[in-house]
Amino acid sequence: MNNQQNGLSADENGPEDFFCPCCEEAFSVSVFDDVDDEFDPTNPRCPDCKREQRIAGSECECGQPAAHEVESGMLCDDCFEDYASVD
Ligand SMILES: [Zn+2]
Ligand SMILES: [Zn+2]
Repeated sequence: MNNQQNGLSADENGPEDFFCPCCEEAFSVSVFDDVDDEFDPTNPRCPDCKREQRIAGSECECGQPAAHEVESGMLCDDCFEDYASVD
């Protein structure tokens, strides 16, 4: 392979590492490059916990608690099944 840098060498570049209070895992801000989300310095959580927190605070358009996040918004399990089966 070519000796190109892809910007993912976490340790060498010394990116800011944070400690997620939810899952108690350390994570780097660079992990947000790979997800459709942005790091929030006032609420430093890893992308997974951030998404879960976002879903947990949301409702599906039908009024049930959301369980999935999709492009168009938040969906409960029932609506997500419909959504997924249409695809
Ligand atoms: Zn976490
Ligand atoms: Zn629903």
